[in-house]
Amino acid sequence: MRSPKEMRIIQIDITNACIHACSNCTRFCGNHKKPFFMEEDAFKKAVDSLEGFPRTIGVMGGEPTLHPKFEVFARYIAEKHPPTYKHNPARWPVRNFIRYMWDKNYFWHESMNTRHGPGFWGGGGQKYYEYFETIQDAFPYQLINDHKNNAMHQPLLVSRKDLGITDEEWLPLRDACWIQNMWSATATPKGAFFCEVAGALDMLFDGPGGWPVEPGWWKREPEEFGEQLKWCELCGAALRTKGRLSSEEIDDVSPTLYEMLEKAGSPKLRQGRVALLGDDKLSETNLQDKKNWYIDSYMERISAENKSLFPRELKKLQTAEPFDLAGLLAGAGSDWVLAYAGEEPRSAVLEDIYNYVLNPGVVYPFGGRAALFNVRASALRGVSGSFDFAGFTRLWPDGKRAELTNWAEEDVNPDLEYWAAFAKESGALTEQVRAALNKIASDYGRTVEI
Ligand code: SF4
Ligand code: SF4
Repeated sequence: MRSPKEMRIIQIDITNACIHACSNCTRFCGNHKKPFFMEEDAFKKAVDSLEGFPRTIGVMGGEPTLHPKFEVFARYIAEKHPPTYKHNPARWPVRNFIRYMWDKNYFWHESMNTRHGPGFWGGGGQKYYEYFETIQDAFPYQLINDHKNNAMHQPLLVSRKDLGITDEEWLPLRDACWIQNMWSATATPKGAFFCEVAGALDMLFDGPGGWPVEPGWWKREPEEFGEQLKWCELCGAALRTKGRLSSEEIDDVSPTLYEMLEKAGSPKLRQGRVALLGDDKLSETNLQDKKNWYIDSYMERISAENKSLFPRELKKLQTAEPFDLAGLLAGAGSDWVLAYAGEEPRSAVLEDIYNYVLNPGVVYPFGGRAALFNVRASALRGVSGSFDFAGFTRLWPDGKRAELTNWAEEDVNPDLEYWAAFAKESGALTEQVRAALNKIASDYGRTVEI
């Protein structure tokens, strides 16, 4: 066990609503009669209580983008717990977004900001697309997992007593629990917890709640965890059990927990998606003892068939200049628009637009007479009037314009040169940052000018 102050990440659980009910989910999604949605005041209090925490504060679900106030929360945490260097939002078209995000996490979060700043944990689905701009603006670190992959989840609703584990055997196992030692403490609507799974158990089984969410709660030492450690008695994370594919959406539970789920009225149990832990689920080793205990590679976190982040629609609108914005938008549909005066522009991205991930918060001009944009861009909110294309594209701030006229896709992260220049010009080019840039370049078989 370790103090939350030693952790790399402390989470704030804003909801346990989710689009999945994965096997052995750490938040037990699918087992609640009704999901919770954290109140705005509670969220702000949780962020404020973590003032001084030197690493990542995560926004976590369930699926956090299902929270109706997700955007408000994202903006608040970005303002209150900003990264040391303001990271750039994803700007250029990319075919492999998860690979881009891997590099971005590594450069901005691990190297430049040394892990300080907001983090996002979510599924990369429809709602992620809806909030794409906000998420890129607010979160330098993102751990996306659409759970349509081969992720293995260890049984969690397991009592060590059901498995015949004695007190003597138990305490060293518990204290070495991989979740508490590798992952996070959390704040839920019911208080602050030394461990994220303890917080989720308290929610599922209507427990007494956590510590008051007040400044410094996260500085408690293990000797002060007290009554909260009782939740470990109902948790299998520290035990030697085998994982199950998350996509099977079946929970493996021991008899005591089965009964508790029955009493709690678990919908998942009623649906026949809770299995009693059989001998086939016991193991000589723990899941974390295996090298690839969870998922083989970060790159698998968004599966190839997941098209949620790609454009849905492209409307092409020819217009005269200047044009009335309201008039243009009236025929624009609900997603991407290519507006142009004169000749329709040609580009590799436009030819194959449904296979690129583009940031809906960015405008992509083509010379001075055309622009590709998304009707949901924050730059357009509350704007009206008459524009030529030069004036129109200036509605977006500098970091959210990406000229596509001469853009040619290369098999290299499109931000790499920009990151290198930024590190150099801002005086942040430490050996660690230089090594990170070289590492990213070498992953593409390239070098970068630094
Ligand atoms: S995606 Fe799966 S593992 Fe993640 S919160 Fe939802 S149900 Fe749980
Ligand atoms: S055993 Fe469960 S509740 Fe206890 S620290 Fe580990 S994950 Fe948390």
